[in-house]
Amino acid sequence: MKKDKLVIPDHNTLFATDPYVKQREGKKAFEAPCSEQETAEALAYSKSAEYKDKNFARTSLVVNPHKACQPLGALMAALGFEMTLPFIHGSQGCTAYFRSHLSRHFKEPTPAVSSSMTEDGAVFGGMANLIDGLENSVALYKPAMVAVSTTCMAEVIGDDLQAFISNARQKGAISEELPVPYANTPSFSGSHITGYDAMLKSIISTLYTRSGIEAAPGSGEGTGEKLNIILGFEPYTGNFAEMRKIMAAFDTAYTFLGDHSGNFDSPATGEYSYYYGGTKLDDVPKAAYALGTLSLQKYAVKKTLEYIGGTWRQQTVGLSAPIGITATDRLLEAISELTGLPVPAELTEERGRVVDALTDSHPYLHGKRVALVGDPDLLIGLVQFCLDTGMEPVHIVCSNGDNGFKEEVEALLASSPFGAGATVYIGNDLWHMRSLLIGEPVDLAVGSSHLKFAAKDAGVPLIRVGFPVFDRHHLHRYPLIGYQGALNLLTTIVNTVLEGLDEQASGFNHDLVR
Ligand code: SF4
Repeated sequence: MKKDKLVIPDHNTLFATDPYVKQREGKKAFEAPCSEQETAEALAYSKSAEYKDKNFARTSLVVNPHKACQPLGALMAALGFEMTLPFIHGSQGCTAYFRSHLSRHFKEPTPAVSSSMTEDGAVFGGMANLIDGLENSVALYKPAMVAVSTTCMAEVIGDDLQAFISNARQKGAISEELPVPYANTPSFSGSHITGYDAMLKSIISTLYTRSGIEAAPGSGEGTGEKLNIILGFEPYTGNFAEMRKIMAAFDTAYTFLGDHSGNFDSPATGEYSYYYGGTKLDDVPKAAYALGTLSLQKYAVKKTLEYIGGTWRQQTVGLSAPIGITATDRLLEAISELTGLPVPAELTEERGRVVDALTDSHPYLHGKRVALVGDPDLLIGLVQFCLDTGMEPVHIVCSNGDNGFKEEVEALLASSPFGAGATVYIGNDLWHMRSLLIGEPVDLAVGSSHLKFAAKDAGVPLIRVGFPVFDRHHLHRYPLIGYQGALNLLTTIVNTVLEGLDEQASGFNHDLVR
């Protein structure tokens, strides 16, 4: 007997079916909404110059900021270490948000537990929840380390993590041997990168202190003069692979301080493990001996770099995302200076191939006006890429950027004629960006999936880059950094431009060759 064909309706087709159409009509009648004319008038007003001025004059309201909260970053930092269980002290709903946010981006499960504080925890404090939660999660998931961060609720009532964890040890809920780094991650300040930094620093300092290492840190002694590399709050698992490729070409030893690529790119073998990959816990104290630490996200790991420079007395080099030719050149020079090794010929050859590709596409990119949204380090990399390729950054919005970031980007823009028309906005949000895109149009918008609504309102194509990307698949598997990353980004951007040309082309302009 022939089986009926399985039909999987997508969002568009499912919600165009009768039951849903009727449901919406019924809901509308119940809610007594504005008339279609009123809605159209309000929409038109929201695109006016007067509205833009009012939008930029607001001081007490934030609409769709381009950032997530601190514990989400702390969770990602925890997943960068071998057999480490992220433990969120606070509300269960917050933890569900972090897990779903990360899972929607990486399309992978995100292991994390919560102390599930409710009303009684808020009134009497969360110590009982934390102790029970630690005992249960260690018994169930058998981690080698538990990394504790906090949500707003635990921070508002002032829970003392150090005392609570110490009490958990005294009561025998967890053993003395189990490392339990913790970070206070209040989400009413900072962003996901602040939380990432706080947890990374806590993990590194906890494991180093517990190791009892006394030999001179930063000596290279006993570790083959290893280099430490920090990628930071890294939404691209492909960037870890690219750094591995670069370091293999240099043929030198290194340690990633935080590598969550295994957890966010685990294989489907039919069996699920809670832990995949990550930096080995024993490697962290040994990293103190390395000759230097190189970070590819200096704004995202400020405190960690300060700790490494101060306590391990190592040379630290803080870069921002090495996107494009110029920034990748700088990355390779930094590795070369730190290790004393020459830049490998195979990377120089790869560079040449990417320069060739850029030259092929240059006529389609030159002079394109671009709007950019993202985290500070990503934006610096993207601005540099635009300047390398002759594209002109126009609006640069960074919800979690500080004055140092603004000054650095402005200096970068001033170094090129292509940067002359740009304005950098820090602390602004995506509703501001919407006004900018409508009021001062651009050719391309570059940013996360959250930018898709403003881009659609303004009729601008969106190049999805950064975190989170929920509505396109597998982009995180492809590197954005290094020469390969430059080629990937170039391919995406130039083909978006070419698709636009084809859409607009009529008659003989619908050409075979571009
Ligand atoms: S901002 Fe605070 S309450 Fe909201 S999800 Fe983050 S930690 Fe939870």
